[in-house]
Amino acid sequence: MKKQFDIADDCSFAPAEEIGSLQNRLLAEHIRYCRAASPFYREKFASFPDREYDFDLLQELPTTSKQDLAEHNDSFFAVPPTEIADICFTSGTTGKPCRIIYTASDLDRLAYNDACGYRAAGMCPGDKVLLTCTIDRCFIAGLAYYQGVIKFGAAAIRNGLNTLDSHAEVIGLLRPQNIVGVPSFLAKLGQYLTDHGIDKSCIKRLVCIGEPARTRKLELTPLGRKLEGFWPGAVHSTYASSEIVTSFTECSARCGGHPPADLAVVEILDEAGNRVPDGEPGEVTVTPLQVTGMPLVRFRTGDISFIIPGACPCGRGTLRLGPILGRKAQMLKVRGTTLFPGAFFNVLDGLPGVQEYYMEVRGSALSDEITVCVACSGGASPESLGVAEALYSRTRIHVPVVAVDAESARKRVFGTSRKPVRFFDLRDKSL
Ligand SMILES: [Zn+2]
Repeated sequence: MKKQFDIADDCSFAPAEEIGSLQNRLLAEHIRYCRAASPFYREKFASFPDREYDFDLLQELPTTSKQDLAEHNDSFFAVPPTEIADICFTSGTTGKPCRIIYTASDLDRLAYNDACGYRAAGMCPGDKVLLTCTIDRCFIAGLAYYQGVIKFGAAAIRNGLNTLDSHAEVIGLLRPQNIVGVPSFLAKLGQYLTDHGIDKSCIKRLVCIGEPARTRKLELTPLGRKLEGFWPGAVHSTYASSEIVTSFTECSARCGGHPPADLAVVEILDEAGNRVPDGEPGEVTVTPLQVTGMPLVRFRTGDISFIIPGACPCGRGTLRLGPILGRKAQMLKVRGTTLFPGAFFNVLDGLPGVQEYYMEVRGSALSDEITVCVACSGGASPESLGVAEALYSRTRIHVPVVAVDAESARKRVFGTSRKPVRFFDLRDKSL
């Protein structure tokens, strides 16, 4: 197994065929390693032939789910305790929380991954990068973004989960060219800097984590538009998760995120587990390459997205992953149309006068019944704001819109979790 990751080895600009054969070689190595070192895969693959698995043959192997990880957590560990360098927990948004372990080589691999991402986004060595995410709290992405800055040859400003006031002071003092953070927080920061007359023109790039900044059509979401109002042309969307040990970052073309060529094989699967053609949405399924601590094969992320067809204008031969359209568990089926809560939320985020909102979904396996609950500001009502019409014009679905008061909406949205929850699934799952 490779132990050193050097950004000079990034071969993302190689022709697609060359990248394909590199990936096939690494994939065969990876499957051999999983059989030899991972108790879970030793058992799972026992009845499958021991051969050189390439991208086509990969389809013959079973997928791995979040439930597998939670239920057989220990048997995914492929190294002795002496080689474990870092231990995290998955967020536990679906299913039971479970441990994810990383070796020193895995952390180096992650740093390389994010360094390649920064380069794709157009950062320059010698730049300063303000990190507004934590590197503590068992948050692997924060650590990876930090180590990636160092590997790339830029300077990290680890102001982390600090106040707007503190970030404003740091921006005034150090004039960073780049910020890594969650879009909704960055929007608050942009507003704060504007309100306080602080010069924010030094900032050229926002590496947006945790929330999609683009829609199905690759246009900016209302939140993304807000960010670009403060910093034109700055938004670079990313996608990552603790389990897949891989991040995808938008390049200068800003239409889809690239993974480095030597770190991941990506498949988009339909509900039956078959690959879908490029451009069609399905479950993002990742086989991370060159991972040693907790290697995975065909890991089903539960996130729905699509591969953007065709070559990227930036010249990279690597694939481009579109924005995350939603979580598989939150997929809605209404009279033959499939869509995600995000399609509604994007409309509601963009409507002035909508103060708070959430969605409830009921019904059985055949068709979902959606209710959108909206709290309006300044004495307005959902009718006067035209909420139902705006939702229909974007989704082509008529949904009942109910007025609720702001206080009870806030309680509902912020009452159950540290993160806002706007989707309440009350569907009958017994059918
Ligand atoms: Zn590109």
